[in-house]
Amino acid sequence: MKDEGRNIFSVFDEILQREVKEKLLNQRGLTIWLTGLSGSGKTTIAMALEQLLNKKGFLTQVLDGDNVRTGINSNLGFSEEDRTENIRRIAEINKLFINCGIVTINCFVSPTKDIRAKAKEIIGADDFLEVFINTPIEICEQRDVKGLYAKARKGEIKNFTGIDAPFEVPKTNFIDLKTANCTPLEAATQLKDIVLTKIIKR
Ligand code: ADP
Repeated sequence: MKDEGRNIFSVFDEILQREVKEKLLNQRGLTIWLTGLSGSGKTTIAMALEQLLNKKGFLTQVLDGDNVRTGINSNLGFSEEDRTENIRRIAEINKLFINCGIVTINCFVSPTKDIRAKAKEIIGADDFLEVFINTPIEICEQRDVKGLYAKARKGEIKNFTGIDAPFEVPKTNFIDLKTANCTPLEAATQLKDIVLTKIIKR
């Protein structure tokens, strides 16, 4: 009787594998990592991309400062240590979504190559698509969506990326998405075509 019980239990002693979930969704899990200056268009492109993928039947999740910094990372500030922990947790969340077969679209400035490398290391290079939202700082500053550049210029915000803190442009293995001369929808469509080649199940 005891042995039978054990046998029945053993059927349930493994978490369902990623492949099973990807088959269910008919897609491959992927992390899309948008990096770029504040106001470069990460959030706008992520939202448009999500809509485009959704229309084609793909399941996605957008992660950005709004749902991460105010939620799971609400106890973190902007010290070096906290920034590293912020990225570590975001990457671990991505891993969970990938194991569920979900396409995760991340919108974080992630200004240094070390920060992006750390995320890539945790998530795994095969599942990590780095996309540089390539918008010149003059344009980001003109847009000044949240009025942050004006504040940074006045010295009201310190260590603002692009003004008094560096942004390290990606050098290898990334998609270069230039936004200066296109609409958000055009940029998102361009990205969607690349993403589709990675998430369609063969
Ligand atoms: P970020 O998330 O990088 O801080 P946002 O997406 O919040 O940037 O803001 C970008 C702003 O730039 C939006 O107001 C958007 O409408 C505008 N914009 C103009 N052209 C583009 C484009 N081609 N791609 C993305 N955003 C664009």
